[in-house]
Amino acid sequence: MNTENWPIWIFPIIWLAMAILAVAYTSFGERFLHKELMHKKAKIFGFVFEYPFIAHTLVHHQKFRADESYCLDTHEHPEADAATIPMKWWNGPAIVFMTTATFPLDVALITGMWSFVYIFAAVGLAYYGLYEWSHWCMHKPLAYKKRFIERYPFRGKIFLYLNKHHNLHHLHMHKHFNVVCPLADLVLGTYIPESKRTPPVATAQTSNRA
Ligand SMILES: [Zn+2]
Ligand SMILES: [Zn+2]
Repeated sequence: MNTENWPIWIFPIIWLAMAILAVAYTSFGERFLHKELMHKKAKIFGFVFEYPFIAHTLVHHQKFRADESYCLDTHEHPEADAATIPMKWWNGPAIVFMTTATFPLDVALITGMWSFVYIFAAVGLAYYGLYEWSHWCMHKPLAYKKRFIERYPFRGKIFLYLNKHHNLHHLHMHKHFNVVCPLADLVLGTYIPESKRTPPVATAQTSNRA
């Protein structure tokens, strides 16, 4: 696609649209990986790939439930259990590769607009970082201070909302697969509407501790 004659002002708009699309796309990717790899023993080319299932379903979900054990500081061995919150480092590059080497790469090859790949890679990396950081803050609230993510975006309301969303995932393992952006849960029917949530869950340890 020849973009040489396009006005310069159009590019930031295109990049912004690509970034929004990338967030939506990565939300579906996040849900897919969480549902199909982290909650199932996946079979890839005949091989059973069970590491994510063991690390997530058998370890993380057993140590962190929707009750008070959702918060690390109630654990008997917090140092050891803290290691089960993040994914292994190589999940980051793997997720970025999966989100860029699919549809964005096809679009770039067809249109010649490689910004599609760069923006999807940047958004995928940021999304992964946000996943790890917010998931860590959800399970390890600090009694003495609130961190940036808990204080600033809409005065912490987004984090509080996502924290409740994830707490419900620890109660209903086949709902609320998204941690960062629950768009895919909403679209694909794994979102529990407020009206169907039971009161004890809403009052579980999901609030920002002051
Ligand atoms: Zn969790
Ligand atoms: Zn899970």
